[in-house]
Amino acid sequence: MYRTIKEVKEALLSGESVLSITEYFLGKIDEHKHLNAFLEVFTDSAKVQAQIVDEKIKNGTAGKLAGVVIGIKDNICYKNHKVSASSKILEGFESLYTATALQRLIDEDAIVIGRLNCDEFAMGSSNENSAFGSVENNWKKNYVPGGSSGGSAVAVSANLCTVSLGSDTGGSVRQPASWTGTYGLKPTYGRISRYGLIAYASSFDQIGTFTNNLEDAALLLQIMGGKDEMDATTSSKELTLKTLTKVPNSRIGIIKEYISNPGLDAEVKHHLDKTIEGLKNDGHEIVELSFPYLDYLVPTYYVLTTAEASSNLSRFDGVHYGHRSSEAKGVEQTYIKSRSEGFGPEVKRRIMTGTFVLSHGYYDAYYTKAQKVRRVLQDKTNEMLAQVDVLIMPTTPSTAFEKDAVKDPIQMYLQDIFTVHANLTGNPAISIPLTIHSNGLPFGLQLMTTHFAEQALFDFAKSIEKLKE
Ligand code: GLN
Repeated sequence: MYRTIKEVKEALLSGESVLSITEYFLGKIDEHKHLNAFLEVFTDSAKVQAQIVDEKIKNGTAGKLAGVVIGIKDNICYKNHKVSASSKILEGFESLYTATALQRLIDEDAIVIGRLNCDEFAMGSSNENSAFGSVENNWKKNYVPGGSSGGSAVAVSANLCTVSLGSDTGGSVRQPASWTGTYGLKPTYGRISRYGLIAYASSFDQIGTFTNNLEDAALLLQIMGGKDEMDATTSSKELTLKTLTKVPNSRIGIIKEYISNPGLDAEVKHHLDKTIEGLKNDGHEIVELSFPYLDYLVPTYYVLTTAEASSNLSRFDGVHYGHRSSEAKGVEQTYIKSRSEGFGPEVKRRIMTGTFVLSHGYYDAYYTKAQKVRRVLQDKTNEMLAQVDVLIMPTTPSTAFEKDAVKDPIQMYLQDIFTVHANLTGNPAISIPLTIHSNGLPFGLQLMTTHFAEQALFDFAKSIEKLKE
């Protein structure tokens, strides 16, 4: 119930109240505690907000998102509410301000129902790196939902809220969306303000959405996107999304190294091939492209993001925020003990890797080199997108895996092989549900296009949806 914004609107028109919708979701969350999707439910503030919006509806002053219940990833700041990035180091910390993206949703009368579990500091692909336990995939017991925005994906998939926010630095919205049968959008870098999003790798991070249809993703983007004076990297480029419509005669790029990748699950490949065939029969032109740098994507991503993370996470020093070791004496001991106790193993690994690649003597060999590779990747991607309207590719090599099944960090990093591309180059990308695997788990396909061409991305996604009808 209330799976889409349209359903919420219809319910309100038929006389239901925002409070009753909010209470419905509070009940659902309570029934699904075992999924461990929510780290905290904002029961009181959500009910207060709901009553205010009900009044506004009566007065005819309600905003576009009246009655829409949203969940937020636990790295998005909401004033006077706790935020922890699923880390012990921020335990007990309360936000002093609200993220711009979230504020814009609240200004349109969305109801914020709680904060959602994720990998610690958004570092992970399975939600198993949370300091507060992993999240269960609602499709199959004992399976991971993907990460790092695992809680946000499960909350939408399991009907615990209508839409949710996540963040995508290397695939953290698209990958869990693929694994939970939801729509996951990563907008163009610079489209949505990062003010109030706890930074992981600032030149990669974007807030993204989980929804049950394309229209909701478009509406949320329309509301959240645009210039923000609190984030200098936001763009003032026009963002007026029109009704999404199927586009005829597109030029669709398929990257041969992606589509015939040996790591791609046979069923995922089969369904992707079938969709491409369907698009061809529908009058679209399929253009085969070559992107010879697939093997460079994940290493480049990990050099640059760990470098940025080591710098961003230096602020968690036991003095400014959250956890301080009770045994610490003196400044240095405070830093060392608080950080050793507060950060989990994956975060420590990345801080150390990042510190190493930035260190004197290795800087040019790793960091400078990776920056140069990033430019090559961007140039090649622009070149491909000059030839086609959209690129179609897998979101994930396979479906979700069982908890504890992937122990080697490199294997875990390779889960993002198809998603880090759009973060390295800043392009917008979306994962849309494709089908259900014979193992009972869902998976999506990914579309990527030119910077700031989200309308084209949505319209093209619509063309694919129409194929299924
Ligand atoms: N799984 C990737 C990582 O571990 C991506 C994370 C993200 O997008 N926040 O870094």
